[in-house]
Amino acid sequence: MNLLNFVSEFPDESSCRNKFKEYRERVGVVCPVCGYKDHYWKGDKACYECKHCGKRQSLRANTVMHGSHLPFRYWFIAIHLLTSTKKSFSAAELQRQLGHKRYEPIWLMLHKLRGIMGKRDELYDLTEVVELDEGFFTTEIQDEEKEKPLKRGRGSQSKSKVMVMAESIPLEGETTKKGKPRKVGHLKMFVIDDLKSTTIDNVVIENISTDAIIDSDKSTSYTHLKNLVGEHRPKVIPKEEVGKALPWVHIAISNAKRLLLDIHHDIKGEYLQNYLSEFCYKFNRRYFGENLFDRLMVASVTYKNRFRCNCG
Ligand SMILES: [Zn+2]
Repeated sequence: MNLLNFVSEFPDESSCRNKFKEYRERVGVVCPVCGYKDHYWKGDKACYECKHCGKRQSLRANTVMHGSHLPFRYWFIAIHLLTSTKKSFSAAELQRQLGHKRYEPIWLMLHKLRGIMGKRDELYDLTEVVELDEGFFTTEIQDEEKEKPLKRGRGSQSKSKVMVMAESIPLEGETTKKGKPRKVGHLKMFVIDDLKSTTIDNVVIENISTDAIIDSDKSTSYTHLKNLVGEHRPKVIPKEEVGKALPWVHIAISNAKRLLLDIHHDIKGEYLQNYLSEFCYKFNRRYFGENLFDRLMVASVTYKNRFRCNCG
């Protein structure tokens, strides 16, 4: 959907509200008390009433808009932009474009949408051959760490550790200077607290299919991986060979870093995951085209969002 189509399909608040109601009913309204799926629509109160227990819920309740006072149209514009732009945009930019007084509600809306993007991708396991490595992303130093001397390199307080996994499917063809040709499939990125093997193991258990093959370097953090998947092929990888041995994780890491640097400045470590979730969600659906708006709308009405803002 381009901008002109969007504007003509959703010219005002009521067209957005009606469409949102249509999506909710298409996915199915579920009673939060008894789980029953049949509801009356109470037009005068603008809410659903459970036909079994009588519990009422508003149109926005238990969706991504739960508790939000922003207009439906703001949400639609945000979903449109998130699914139609190649890169991303900042909350400050959207606030300016909407002419909205306050920054926080716009910021929170975007984070909630990024949160459901992450939830959606958690539903799928990576399969076949998976490249795995860690990336170190620059984030804002937390207040309690600011007093301490700055450490350098990987252990630095200004770096967040991210585990990156990319399906990397071997293709037929000649081995070139860059190695055997491989095609990238799906991608996942997770912020992790440390590089302990138990931390890594848990991420792998949650996200990689048990019959997959993992390619990685020979880090001591990866010693248990052979027990968790079909095969683990650890290799000693000299620094200059990383791009050749694990091409897709490294392309993904550098693209994500560039995007974050270009658009969002001074990211707090605690919100980094949401930006990475957006990056992976879009990457994993790069061939969806116009359907992406529809997919994110479905995800928006389906999920009760658990994102909590701790900005006070
Ligand atoms: Zn009920």
